[in-house]
Order: sequence, then C-alpha cells, then structure tokens
Amino acid sequence: MKKPIASLLVCLLFANVLFANTLTDDINQSADKILPKVVEWRRHLHKSPELGNREFKTAAYIEAHLRKLGLEVRTKVAKTGVVGILKGDLPGPVVGLRADMDGLPVTERVNVPFASKEKTEYNGQQVGVMHACGHDSHVAMLMGTAEVLAGMKNKLKGTVVFIFQPAEEGPPAGEEGGAVLMVKEGVMDNPKIDAIFGIHINSQTEIGKIKYKSGSFMAAADWFTIRVKGKQTHGSQPWSGVDPIMTASQIIQGLQTIVSRQSNLTKAPVVITIGKINGGVRENIIPEEMTMAGTIRTLDDEMQKDVHERIKITAQKIAESVGATAEVSIETKTLVTYNTPALVEQMLPALAKAAGKENLIETEWTTGAEDFSYYRLKAPAFFFNVGGMPKGTNPKDAPPHHTPDFYIDDSRLDVGVKAFCNLVFDFDKAQLEKAMKTVAATERQIPVQNCLQPSLFNVQPIGLENALWQSDNFDAVCRNS
Ligand SMILES: [Zn+2]
Ligand SMILES: [Zn+2]
Repeated sequence: MKKPIASLLVCLLFANVLFANTLTDDINQSADKILPKVVEWRRHLHKSPELGNREFKTAAYIEAHLRKLGLEVRTKVAKTGVVGILKGDLPGPVVGLRADMDGLPVTERVNVPFASKEKTEYNGQQVGVMHACGHDSHVAMLMGTAEVLAGMKNKLKGTVVFIFQPAEEGPPAGEEGGAVLMVKEGVMDNPKIDAIFGIHINSQTEIGKIKYKSGSFMAAADWFTIRVKGKQTHGSQPWSGVDPIMTASQIIQGLQTIVSRQSNLTKAPVVITIGKINGGVRENIIPEEMTMAGTIRTLDDEMQKDVHERIKITAQKIAESVGATAEVSIETKTLVTYNTPALVEQMLPALAKAAGKENLIETEWTTGAEDFSYYRLKAPAFFFNVGGMPKGTNPKDAPPHHTPDFYIDDSRLDVGVKAFCNLVFDFDKAQLEKAMKTVAATERQIPVQNCLQPSLFNVQPIGLENALWQSDNFDAVCRNS
C-alpha cells in the first residue's frame, strides 16, 4: 500500500512544479509575443511627450487600451492620471503596479525616426518636450502587462490596480500633482492595495538586467531657498553697507562643510547643491539682498533632519557675523524611496524568472529621487530599475537621464512586462505579513523617512495615522522617527 501513496505524492509534487513552470512559461511567452506592440506604443508616446499635469493625449491613449481589455477604468485621477482595475477569477490580494507618464522640458537631440519635435511653453519660456527620463517606456510596459494579465484572468488570484501617474517630475508651479496627489485622492485605498511595485528604466544599465536594493534605495529630495539681506551701498564704499553677495559666498562655503565636516558619511551620503543665485543689478552697486536656491539629498531621515537644522544655523550665524540676515525655507519634494526588505526578499525569485538570476544585480543607493516614495506610506513597496542601455556600451558613454541625448534601447522592454506579471502571480500576502513580523525588530533600527513629512509638501493631514498601512511594525517606525 505504501508504494502507490508515495508515487501519488511524487506525482502531485511534480504536477505542482510543472504547473509553476508552466505559469512562468505562459507569462514569459505572452510577454515575448507582445513585445513588438510594447515597442510600438513606447515609440508612439516618445513622439508626442507631454509635461506633468498636461498628459491629456497620453491619458486618452492609455484609457482606450485599458477599455479595450475590458478593465474597470478611472480617469482624471490626480488631474490626468488613469487607473485600471483587473479582477482575477480567483480570490487573492490586491497588487498595485505603477508607471509615470510625464515628459520633460528638454529638446531632443537623438536621431531616431520617432524623435520628439514637440514644443510648449514652460515657466514663460518656449521649450522642447522630450521623454528624457524614459517614462514612455514605463507606460508601454504597464500597458503590455495589463494585456498579458487580462489574457490570464482565469488563473489570476486577486486584483491588480494599474496606476498611470502624472507629473512624477513635479507639477507646474502652484499646482498639486504626482504621487502625493494620487495617494491623497485614494488610489491606494479603493480597493486597498496590499503591495505596490514600480519600475524605472535606466539608460546606464545594460538591457536585460534588473538592478534592485533592499531598504533605502533612492534619496529624499528637499528644495531650499536662502534669502540674504544686507544693506545697499555704493560699490566703491562697501564699509557703508552690508554686502549680501559676499555673505552668500561665505554661506555657500559653510554649507559644503555640513557635508564634508559635519555629516557622518559612513552612515549614508549627503548632497547639498546650490543651483541658482540671483541678486544685484549693476557693477557698482552692492545690492540690498540676494537669494540662492538648491537641493538637499539624504538617505536617512535622522540625517535629513540634522542637515536641515545645520543649514539654518550655518546660514543665519554667518549672516549675523557680518550684520546681515538669512531666511531659510526648506520644502520636502520626495521622501526616501524605501524598499520593504521582507517584500524584496519574497519577490527576488519572481524577478529572476523575468530576467534570469544572473541578470539580477544588487545595487548601491542613489542620490536621485522618486515620488514613488509616497506610495510606501500606504503599503509595502518595491521599486527597481530595468536596463535600457544598448549591449556593449560603457555606462560612462551612455547619456544620463534628463539630457537631450538620453537614449533607451527598447528591444528588451519585455523584461519589465515579465517582471510585473511574475510579481503579481508570486506575491504572497500572508507570507509577507509573517516575514514582516519577524523582521520588525530589525526594521525599527533601519532609518526610514519621517512619516509626517508629507505635511511639508502640501498634503492635507489625510489622517496619516489611518493612512499608514495596518502594520504595527510600520506604525512603530513612523512614531519613532
Ligand atoms: Zn526623471
Ligand atoms: Zn523618471
């Protein structure tokens, strides 16, 4: 009697493995099949890029596709955002997948048939518009994912929310937008998303490869302005006034010593950059005041708070020492993009199925920033990079993002589609919750963003207490920070 039972068990086990393999094969074959369409969509979007909160044609293009697939579609979310909801035939968790939609005020210099010739007005200037950050590829990959998953609805456990988000690069001055507004308008709540994933293409990572990092991955970005007030006088008689230009130059030196002498750089990097200086009207007039503006990048919330304090003290004390004053204002643009370690650990096999284990690269943190970081206030999150650099190129020779020569080799966008699809099928909510309980103690020690920071970025107190995903762990982290 024993032998038949043992054989049956072996058979069942085999069938299980076989089914898992078949599912991955199904996904990957469908993604391979749809690749030519994904490339076509990406090139269409590349040719007609639109700036943040103005993605009208892009939104209509996405909407038409999602409706054709039979998804529930919501439009005008956070101005021009589109959300598609696909309910699988089987019960299961709710997974969010996000693609950003906006282009940049950059004039394209790349010689491809689908290069952008678009022009628009931006901050009162005529500018070219270009998908110089690759968001066209994100939209195309997510459209492809929606098509593949809609075709596998009978095998799909749970619900997938496709989030097409406007204005990742920041909304126009005076407007709200981006991930903050998507979260505020409830994109994570109805249905309540259990985990969210996002992809960014990378022009300096070879095609076929995926780069990821657990924990803090991308920096918090703050913008700051320092207004130095002195006393106007004749350029030939500086002693009769207080020179704000000389004071500003001392402040700039002082700010760099916050990075080089005062921050513990073995813990996490810090960047302070002054990108703009304005003041003065004429060679022989020492002006009354001048302003400078810049950005701060940090990867640790304690260091972020510390740097803010030091910038204020440095500017104010230097100004005071010469009889001037300095007003400092700091605005948080994005939080630290933090990848929930237990989620990363659970999902790495899914990424390996998409790209091959040998093409998964653990990377360092980056001082670039992403507003994807705001979704993490509501659910465990995982954001990673997919390669877009032609094979054999030296990354140093590959034009960076946001430049007129930015270029993406779109021949392997299937990797992103495969990654999204495999993540959806492999996500296990119960296992994640269990794993998070065991790592809770460790995570408390990992510095994460200050959860109350959105208030600095014009987010109404949307009941952040309620908004945070229902985990004791995350709650504790937030309260501690
Ligand atoms: Zn960008
Ligand atoms: Zn981007």
